[in-house]
Amino acid sequence: MPPLPLPREYLEASLERTLRWLERSLKAKTRPDQALFGIAQGGTDPELRRRSTLETIRFDFPGYAIGGLAVGEPKEAMLAMVELSTRLLPEDRPRYLMGVGHPEDLVAAMGLGVDLFDCVYPTRTGRFGSALVPEGRLNLKNARFLEDRRPLEEGCDCYTCQTFGRAYLAHLVRAGEMLGGSSSPSTTCATSTASPRPPGRPSARGVTGTSPGSSPGGASAGRCPPGSARPWPPGATGNTTPCRPAPAWGPRQKAPGGPKRG
Ligand SMILES: [Zn+2]
Repeated sequence: MPPLPLPREYLEASLERTLRWLERSLKAKTRPDQALFGIAQGGTDPELRRRSTLETIRFDFPGYAIGGLAVGEPKEAMLAMVELSTRLLPEDRPRYLMGVGHPEDLVAAMGLGVDLFDCVYPTRTGRFGSALVPEGRLNLKNARFLEDRRPLEEGCDCYTCQTFGRAYLAHLVRAGEMLGGSSSPSTTCATSTASPRPPGRPSARGVTGTSPGSSPGGASAGRCPPGSARPWPPGATGNTTPCRPAPAWGPRQKAPGGPKRG
């Protein structure tokens, strides 16, 4: 992509190309169990954004994506385009803002009528040992978490918060457990599963942009009884792994095998 701001001719060519893709995608689509969304383009040019959105909704897709934003343009420009888009998109179809994941941006976009997001930010933050909770960002590398038995977020019903304490997650981060085995979720999974719930608590499904079928904790597999858990991915569709007792870290108990730290 050329540097911003993009020339109008470039935006226009991208817009037309996307519309041609929409037609070809509709013809190529064979699976009724997959929802094909149309993606509106137009950069930060209001006229092109409007044209692209109106042309896209003519195809009557089950949902619509707002594309071509969050690529480095000023935030005010991005939100202005989001507002313009959500005013035009049908209210009875999901609106998906691509590439947005910072908590404050999620809240602002939700206020403008966006339903779905996807972004590497929450999971990448998790991989670096941080968890996003309503109070802000918890850096699990911080020594204060080694004895903190509380869940990442008090009262949260997500798998991570229901199963693990901050101390165990901090231990995984310090032990470099990035690819946890089949019996315990990795730090990556654990922290990034809990992380995509920004202040305001929209659903993790909406924030991560995953489909119901791929969402960990999907209803089909059912939740494990209290005190037990499924090996990762917990409750994903088709995951028939039996529930196992969840690790219970009692007071003063050290994680087995973990490095002794003073
Ligand atoms: Zn949680």
